[in-house]
Amino acid sequence: MSEREAVLRDLAERARFYASLTSIGIAHDRPRPEAEGATTAPAEDLTAIREFIGDCQRCKLAGGRKNIVFGQGNPKAALMFVGEAPGADEDEQGLAFVGRAGQLLTDIIEKGLKIPRQDVYIANVIKCRPPQNRNPEPDEILSCQPFLEKQIALIRPRVLVGLGKFSAQWLFKSMEPISRLRGRIGDYDGIKVVPTFHPAYLLRNPGAKKDVWEDMKVVRRLLAGDEP
Ligand code: URA
Repeated sequence: MSEREAVLRDLAERARFYASLTSIGIAHDRPRPEAEGATTAPAEDLTAIREFIGDCQRCKLAGGRKNIVFGQGNPKAALMFVGEAPGADEDEQGLAFVGRAGQLLTDIIEKGLKIPRQDVYIANVIKCRPPQNRNPEPDEILSCQPFLEKQIALIRPRVLVGLGKFSAQWLFKSMEPISRLRGRIGDYDGIKVVPTFHPAYLLRNPGAKKDVWEDMKVVRRLLAGDEP
């Protein structure tokens, strides 16, 4: 199958899956303050998504997980990071990016961007740990997709950072390798997308930190409202 055919198939699958969903019972968009009867704050809506996920059995990862890792941080964040999938530490604690890769992500956010970690929002493409930390599979990504879509729609950050191949591809709706996506600024439903290397990759390849630093400079400019 050519790359183009693979992308088209992925998009068609995504559309079919989305069309087949029944409503998950919460609004798509952050309620606008002026909307009549709009009293729900984004944090409460995120809680509603988490409640809807419940003790999720929608895909084959359910049997092997200890905890669902929903994501955490500021529900009104201007900056949101999207990783790949929980690892062992995250599965244990039910929190995103709390292991070694998470420590490096904290440094990128706090030392690099000079933003307190609690001011950003962090989630993953899939919410349950794959066995032996293998790559997420398409059916698992599709099962979790509506939840991440809702999280992004509610938080509506100014900038989304895609950490690693799976996140960058998901946010770009593309099958291109991270090496081709990095360096570009994507658009996810009107939100700027900056793809960068995954912190776990940086632990194995510290030489790539300089590239991530370049990407974070782009993030800073986008957050400041400047077009890089
Ligand atoms: N790697 C990820 O992609 N996400 C986590 O939460 C932890 C490690």
